[in-house]
Amino acid sequence: MPVPLRSVAVPPASLDRFETVLGQRAAREMFAAMRAGREVLGDRVVWSFNSTERGGGVAEMLRSLLAYARGTGIDARWMVLEGTPELFAVTKRIHNRLHGSRGDSGGLGDAERAVYEEALHEAGREAAALVSPGDIVLLHDPQTAGLAPALAGSGAHVGWRSHIGMDLQNDIGHEAVRFLLPYLGDAEAYIFSRRVYAWPELDAARVHVIPPSIDAFSPKNEPLDRATVHAILHAAGLADGTASGVARFTREDGSPGRVDRRAEVHQDSVLSFRTPLVVQVSRWDRLKDHVGVLRGFAEHVAPHTPAHLMLAGPAAGSVTDDPESGDVLGEILEAWHDLPAAVRRQVHVACLPMDDTDENGAVVNALQRHARVVVQKSLAEGFGLTVAEAMWKGRPVIGSRVGGIQDQIVDGVTGFLLRDPGDLADFGRHLRMLLQDPKLATRMGRAGKRRVARSFLGPRHLIQYLRLFERLVEREATPAPPSPAPVR
Ligand code: UDP
Repeated sequence: MPVPLRSVAVPPASLDRFETVLGQRAAREMFAAMRAGREVLGDRVVWSFNSTERGGGVAEMLRSLLAYARGTGIDARWMVLEGTPELFAVTKRIHNRLHGSRGDSGGLGDAERAVYEEALHEAGREAAALVSPGDIVLLHDPQTAGLAPALAGSGAHVGWRSHIGMDLQNDIGHEAVRFLLPYLGDAEAYIFSRRVYAWPELDAARVHVIPPSIDAFSPKNEPLDRATVHAILHAAGLADGTASGVARFTREDGSPGRVDRRAEVHQDSVLSFRTPLVVQVSRWDRLKDHVGVLRGFAEHVAPHTPAHLMLAGPAAGSVTDDPESGDVLGEILEAWHDLPAAVRRQVHVACLPMDDTDENGAVVNALQRHARVVVQKSLAEGFGLTVAEAMWKGRPVIGSRVGGIQDQIVDGVTGFLLRDPGDLADFGRHLRMLLQDPKLATRMGRAGKRRVARSFLGPRHLIQYLRLFERLVEREATPAPPSPAPVR
């Protein structure tokens, strides 16, 4: 019987380095808020439970936020639920529905509930034995929502953090909400990335809105000069040319790292450093609409420009809670094979090794920095960390006007928002505009970087979490009268 919960070690990181990014005044405010939060928490442990250690935005954020929290003396810990393929098939269905999309043809009935509850039963028991009364527990996404009753029963303050949501609630989404509601009655906080994502069925007083963030100093986002970018792309087998730099990066723990592992690239020609590149970095998930990006590029951009497109994502099968990735990658490769030969030479599909998260981050960093334009043409998107990552690197970004993408891109200022992600001609028109006007691209990229510095870095995110934790802890001093059923 596999162990259902696994602890992930997170080396602490210091927030001091944010002084250079935030400026002294904002940095002082950050340190004061962190001190206050730490005092309120005392020796309580702040637990985060999710279902994968790598791949995707949640793991990405946990790694960095927990490191900074630990660096300020908060006992923040990360547990990963080792789910079964059956569990992840059910939770992927919930995930797709919470994005308003049906996904596979399967249902969410009694049989699926039985699978979900059975898979979480032992994990719930183990989790409850780990935490102490008064600890703070954050459960991330549908995969771990079912742990809430067991954890609340052990006296911890439980919050459920949903990283996904719908711009407009629909019946499909409602099925997923109905599935999850029975587990969430004892949670004291429901945290969403956007106000419109909050389900009307939840007690509004417990709803909190905290947008995600990126880590400016992680291997994925640290500054890299052009020679290093080229060296990394060369070492990873993604591009060729004269690379005078060394494929070096700084690991999360501060030690030096080097890119050695090569990506598996499906291509008819090797990308040259000189060729203008358009990049989308995403998990292999239909909601990221890789096929739409590929067709839009092939039909409306490739015939008019020498630019190439690279679709980059994790090595197939490396993201354990993403069971559809192999099929989706297969569909993308089929669409790629079907392209006319001349256009196919301009499109590359790259599977990046995930064995070493830091190394993978460095490769994504180099790709995003090398891109002339970054796109994120998702059909639905909880937030879309890849957008903030690219903006932080001074890249103009074209994204769909969906979910959190529209909170990040300022249309016409930091990039373009596509009103209808299915309108491939419109996508192509905007892409050509940026490829053909480097001054516009540079101006938008700079505006994007300023926007991320103001709104989407870790310190803002951490402070919002700490304020929420303070509220939960303060409630202990003034116990509320028995609460009405929090879930309507
Ligand atoms: N990512 C990565 N390697 C990959 C594909 C994606 O490191 O091969 C990262 C990407 O850089 C971003 C995260 O995974 O940090 C994806 O987060 P996002 O919010 O964009 O989408 P999600 O995967 O959560 O739907």
